[in-house]
Amino acid sequence: MSVSFRTRLLACALLLCFTSVALADSVPWRRRRRVDVRINREAAERALPDDWPAEPTPPTDVDTARFAHAYQELCGFMPPGRRDTYPAYILDNARRFSVDPFLLAALTFRLGRCQPDAEGMDGVGLTLLSRRMYGDFVSQGAYHYYKREGSRWTPEELALPRFPFSEIRLGQAEPNLYFAAAILSVWKQQQHDVDGAFTQAPHRHYVSHFIWGDSVRSSRAEDRILTDRRRLLQYYGVVSMPPPIVYEGLALGAPLDGAPRVVSSYIGDERDLGARTHRGVDVEAVLGEPVRSVADGRVNFVGVDLPGHHAHESMDNEAAQAIPADRFGAGGRYVCVLHHPPAGGYLRSCYMHLDTMTVRAGQEVHRGDQIGTVGRTGMRVSSPHLHLEFHAPDELLDASVVLNGMLIGHRPPPPRRHHR
Ligand SMILES: [Zn+2]
Repeated sequence: MSVSFRTRLLACALLLCFTSVALADSVPWRRRRRVDVRINREAAERALPDDWPAEPTPPTDVDTARFAHAYQELCGFMPPGRRDTYPAYILDNARRFSVDPFLLAALTFRLGRCQPDAEGMDGVGLTLLSRRMYGDFVSQGAYHYYKREGSRWTPEELALPRFPFSEIRLGQAEPNLYFAAAILSVWKQQQHDVDGAFTQAPHRHYVSHFIWGDSVRSSRAEDRILTDRRRLLQYYGVVSMPPPIVYEGLALGAPLDGAPRVVSSYIGDERDLGARTHRGVDVEAVLGEPVRSVADGRVNFVGVDLPGHHAHESMDNEAAQAIPADRFGAGGRYVCVLHHPPAGGYLRSCYMHLDTMTVRAGQEVHRGDQIGTVGRTGMRVSSPHLHLEFHAPDELLDASVVLNGMLIGHRPPPPRRHHR
C-alpha cells in the first residue's frame, strides 16, 4: 500500500497527479466517510507506517477454546454469557467472509471495548460500525460496491441476507460482527483501487479504511488496532514476546504486551507550562492493560505520589485505592522494581499512573511478570498511558533509547515560542 502511495507521489512530482484527481472525480459512488472523526495532529506524527516491522501472520487453524481464552485476556472482565459467544461469532464470521479473526477481534476491543452497545465515531456496537457511512451501499440484502477493471469501474455485490442493516441490529453482537467482517472483506478487496482513486495519508493496512472510509487521513488508528491484534496473538500463543534487549548484562523485556509500542512523550518534555520537565517516557496504552516488570528484580516501592513532600508514600494497593483521584500528585499510584545488572550498579524501573498495583514491596519478580494495570492516576488531561522511568546510580536513563525497538516513535519538533 505504501508502495502505491509512493508511486502516486512520484507521479505527482512528475505533474501527472491530474490523472488521479480526475479518477477521484469519476468514481461512480459518493465518498464513504465517517463524520465527526478528527485527526489528532500531534499524535499523527508520533509513528509512521515505515517505523513498524511486518505484522505477524495468524495461524491457519484457529483453536476455538484457545481463541476464547485469549479474547477474554484482551477484553478483561466479560460477563459469563459473552465469554464463549463473542469469540464464536468472531471466528464464525471471519471464516464466512475470509478475514483474519484476530483483526476482527482487535476491532471489537479497540473500537467497542468489547461492549455490544458501544457508541462513538458515528458508529454503534462492538466495532462502532457507521450505518451512515455504508447506508447507501448496504441495501436489499447486499453490499453494492465497485471494482476497477482497466479504466472502468464495474459493479460488484456481496450478498448479506442474514440480518437487516439497521441501527438496532448493529447494536447486537452477532449482526455487528457479521456486517463488520463483510465490510472488512470488501475493503480488503478494494484497497488498491480505492488507494489509487482517493487522496490518502500513508498507511499500511486496509483496516484504516474501516475507520476512515475511502480516504484515509491518518495511520494512527490502524497502529492501535494492529497493536491490539499483536496482543491477542500473544495471548493466543503464536507470537512470543520480542527477544530481550541486553543492558549491562541484564535481559530487558517490554513493559507492555504487543510490542512495539509507541512513545507519546519523552524525557525533558515540558510539563505544567514549563514549571517542570518530564522525567520519563510515556507509552501509549489502554486503561486496564497489564504492565510488566522489564527485568528480574525485587519490588522496592509500592505506593502513591501525594502533593507536597510525600512523593513516595508507601502503601499497598488496597490503601492506595482508598485515596480520592483528585488527591494524587503527578505520578499517581506507582511501583518501582530494583534490578541488578551483572555488569554492576543497579537499574531501577518505575511504572506510574497505575490503576491497580498487583505486587507487594519486597516481592521478587521475573521479567514479564505483571506488576499492575495501566491507569490515569495523577493525570489531569492526558489519555491513559504508562509513564516509565529508568534510574541508574548517577543518572536518569532514557527508556526510549534503552528499549529502542520495543518502544518506537518520533520526538516531536521543539515547540515554537510565542513572543508578545
Ligand atoms: Zn509521563
